[in-house]
Amino acid sequence: MSATDELVQANAQYAESFNEANLPAPPARHIAVLTCMDARLHPEKFLGLNVGDAHVIRNAGGRASDDALRSLIISSQLLGTREFLVIHHTDCGMLTFSNHDLQDKLRQETGVDAEFINFLPFSDLEQSVRDDVQRIRRNPFLPGNASVRGFVYDVRNGRLTPLVEEQ
Ligand code: ZN
Repeated sequence: MSATDELVQANAQYAESFNEANLPAPPARHIAVLTCMDARLHPEKFLGLNVGDAHVIRNAGGRASDDALRSLIISSQLLGTREFLVIHHTDCGMLTFSNHDLQDKLRQETGVDAEFINFLPFSDLEQSVRDDVQRIRRNPFLPGNASVRGFVYDVRNGRLTPLVEEQ
């Protein structure tokens, strides 16, 4: 049985006791969280979120990429979120390579030029949080009155450290 098969089996069990059929789509706490896809992060758990509370947008690094901004615009303009949290974390894989490294590797392995892809790696964890908070704050399509704060999550102790407070 593949890992996917196991997940499908787990879902069958989950659905047997499912009782959240009547939750509204807009997040109850008007929050959107942007964070890394790292498997050690469980944002719902480490932020005390329940199902229906928040949008959690995840990608490699938790970067405010064009696609993350697309999601935040939809989250706020169509679904009413007004507080955004950017959470990057210690020991992030995005600290371990450069665009050039990965582009080179891909060209060697596939023969296809990957130079048009910006993988958004970073060398300074705290600066990456500041940069992404700024990128969100400067986006003209996000509500001007939204709160945008930045944090670093420590994968060794589960603790969140505030880094960029409200303006
Ligand atoms: Zn990461």
